[in-house]
Amino acid sequence: MKNVMIVACGAYMDTGYGCPGEWRCLKAAAFGEGAFDEKSAVVGFVKCECPGRTVISNLGMAIKLSGVKPDLIYLSSCLVGAKPGCPYITPEELAQLIEKKTGARVVLGTHDYA
Ligand code: SF4
Repeated sequence: MKNVMIVACGAYMDTGYGCPGEWRCLKAAAFGEGAFDEKSAVVGFVKCECPGRTVISNLGMAIKLSGVKPDLIYLSSCLVGAKPGCPYITPEELAQLIEKKTGARVVLGTHDYA
């Protein structure tokens, strides 16, 4: 079983319905569905906050304080597929920054539930 962390779009979570903080990312990880190729333990769930300045440092803090270096870090499907998209950074740019800072591979998207 992999240890994973998830980064979600706070703007989406705060204003949307069926947001990642409820169940979709967590269910996909628990059952090894969607972008998870096996059942995975979510050891951290970090909420980005506009304009996204603190998301990398918050993720670093989650890794440090949990004492668990994640095998993979996922950007939530709502973050990756947001319409309109994030005005500050693309998912690809965010993934590159996270990979550079943490050394963990980043996966774009978590699930394909409706
Ligand atoms: S900076 Fe972008 S990804 Fe982060 S909460 Fe705001 S809209 Fe979402």
